[in-house]
Amino acid sequence: MLPVVVVHGGAGHVPKERSEKATMGVSSAARSGYLVLQGGGSSMDAVVAAVSQLENNPLFNAGCGSVLNVKGEVEMDALVMDGKTLCSGAVSAVRNIANPVELARMVMDKTSHACLTAEGASMFARSMGVPEVPHESLVTEYSRMRWRKNLEPGADPVACQMGKMGTVGAVAVDVEGNVACATSTGGMMNKMEGRVGDTPCIGSGGYADNHSGAVSTTGHGETIMKVTLARLILFYMEQGHSVEAASDMGLAYMKSRVDGLGGVVTVDPQGNWAARFSSLQMAWAAAQKDMLHYGLYVGEHWSQNIQEPHSPHHADI
Ligand code: ASP
Repeated sequence: MLPVVVVHGGAGHVPKERSEKATMGVSSAARSGYLVLQGGGSSMDAVVAAVSQLENNPLFNAGCGSVLNVKGEVEMDALVMDGKTLCSGAVSAVRNIANPVELARMVMDKTSHACLTAEGASMFARSMGVPEVPHESLVTEYSRMRWRKNLEPGADPVACQMGKMGTVGAVAVDVEGNVACATSTGGMMNKMEGRVGDTPCIGSGGYADNHSGAVSTTGHGETIMKVTLARLILFYMEQGHSVEAASDMGLAYMKSRVDGLGGVVTVDPQGNWAARFSSLQMAWAAAQKDMLHYGLYVGEHWSQNIQEPHSPHHADI
């Protein structure tokens, strides 16, 4: 079955006019990750390549396109985890960098810590020679518009976000059977300054262990943390459930226990994979055996040869 890369573009509801671009974005990210694997790259290289491409895509709530905090600023969270060593790296509430996922990997590779936050993360980025980008380059018209709307009296930013989309993530298995995960987000709309969600927390925003598999999650962070969703799904897999069943069981538990909706991409070390969600939609794509698979709505699963150009299925372009 190996190798494979599976990517998500956030749980929620994708506005009609953005649905084709969303599936194109995740498909292209899955292709990039797959190219890395085909070139003999590791699963960690593949998930970082896929996620940094989505961070650069203004359509998604990560990197450029991140949602804004209550002060109208971008603060981002990201996580990577390596299933061979159980080493992880994360950054939280980091500003002024284009690719938090790459910084998270540097935290894993170049420090003895697992997570750096806020100004400390920025100082580390500077010391690593990561270019500082202007705040404005991360802000889109769309995120500014949503931020303004959410400042209006009676607005409900959490409900509003669950009706939208965006966090990005990937899981992969390489030719050696090593698994990895990466997740990156601008967090929740109009969040308090300094709010850190599930994304940079191992076990919640993602988890990778060669003994069971890898998961990247999306959804309301405070809810995901209550059930440590990524680790919960791997626990079900350790009990013998398939990637698909375990993903559904984790999401069902989050729904019944704490009334939370979300989505996940999951792999096991053999290369079995799943993209599952309890939200209305989640853009996802997977690349394996020269085939590209993708979808957006519940039950949707398109497949094509990976060499072929993306074929549109949603009537919005
Ligand atoms: N989990 C992210 C957070 O709470 C948001 C999302 O996945 O849409 O920061």
